[in-house]
Amino acid sequence: MTRSLYCRDCGELRKKAPLHPEDRAMGWTWRFNYVSPVVPEGHGITMITSDDDSALDGVGKSQFIAMDSLLCDSCGERITGDICVARTMWRESVEAEPRLWENEYGHILPPQAVAVADALKDGPKPKQHETPY
Ligand SMILES: [Zn+2]
Repeated sequence: MTRSLYCRDCGELRKKAPLHPEDRAMGWTWRFNYVSPVVPEGHGITMITSDDDSALDGVGKSQFIAMDSLLCDSCGERITGDICVARTMWRESVEAEPRLWENEYGHILPPQAVAVADALKDGPKPKQHETPY
């Protein structure tokens, strides 16, 4: 199973791209969810360093670096705004659909709510019978 969190722009691009035929042939499938992003408590990365190759085996000095924002797994930029996109991939032939990990990073939004939010963001459209002045 792999999981990725994308900014809205990158997420919409990923949603449009079809699953690679080779991945599909190997049994991979995916789901996308819109998420209202929230930085989880204690969010950060752990770096393991050493002066030799032992870090490759997970042996070495461990350093936790707290992060105050989520980063897009595609462009690497901070995820800003009210809506981001989560992608989950898994092999149907060897595992069941993964649990909803997306809840760790915010609230899952139904596509209808995203459509309403997008419509509100664009503002009201002038009615056909109204004159602009
Ligand atoms: Zn991005």
